Amino acid sequence: MGKYIPKYPLIWQKDDFFIKIFTSIPNLATGILMTTKNDKFVIDPGDGILRYLTNEIGPKKILEINDIFISHGHHDHVGGLWSYLTYLSVMKKQKPLNIYYPKGCIEIISIHNAFQQVYSHELTYQIKLIEIDDPVTLMCNSLKIEPFKVKHSEITKEGIIEYIPSLGFKFIYDGKSICYGGDTAYCETLVEKSQGADLAIIEAGAEDEEETELHMTQKQAIEIGKTAKEYFLVHVPE
Ligand SMILES: [Zn+2]
Repeated sequence: MGKYIPKYPLIWQKDDFFIKIFTSIPNLATGILMTTKNDKFVIDPGDGILRYLTNEIGPKKILEINDIFISHGHHDHVGGLWSYLTYLSVMKKQKPLNIYYPKGCIEIISIHNAFQQVYSHELTYQIKLIEIDDPVTLMCNSLKIEPFKVKHSEITKEGIIEYIPSLGFKFIYDGKSICYGGDTAYCETLVEKSQGADLAIIEAGAEDEEETELHMTQKQAIEIGKTAKEYFLVHVPE
């Protein structure tokens, strides 16, 4: 079987529950918009997210987004955050912005601190950092969110594998569910959460089909994806 390469954007919709994966390419960027009847959410604001959102919903509606979900701090998942936060202030967003992120995610804490240092004197809205550690269930209006820990790591310059704070999210709205695994090696929690979901978004980021502690192979990802009603493979190296 040849390697499957996703063609972005990937779009899924059931009634008022909609998700659009603008892109998800390792080392480049991920960027996702999810909407319910009355609300809009951003997942993993990688580089380019502002342009994608501007094209998709226009500047006015970007200001209505009040919740951002971060799976982990790698640059291809958070690289667009700085300009996104700045844009909201330039456009005079008023309502607070909630950023949900895995506890201990140094990138989000650092971006936030630096951002406050530079812009606090002119910031028109409040940024609320919501760190997630233990299993919790969150509600954003009628969207239910079940974050779960996944197994993602990086390699130090000495060649040592280090696990980093990483989450997947199960989003439930109007009786339908989307399971987004973020970046992860094969992980039981993801297997559990994907099972029976209306849509599972599963990374297949391994460079080749050898199993590693960094990413999943396509075979592993498909095996998990197939337990959901529908699935997308994402984060496939091109
Ligand atoms: Zn990553």
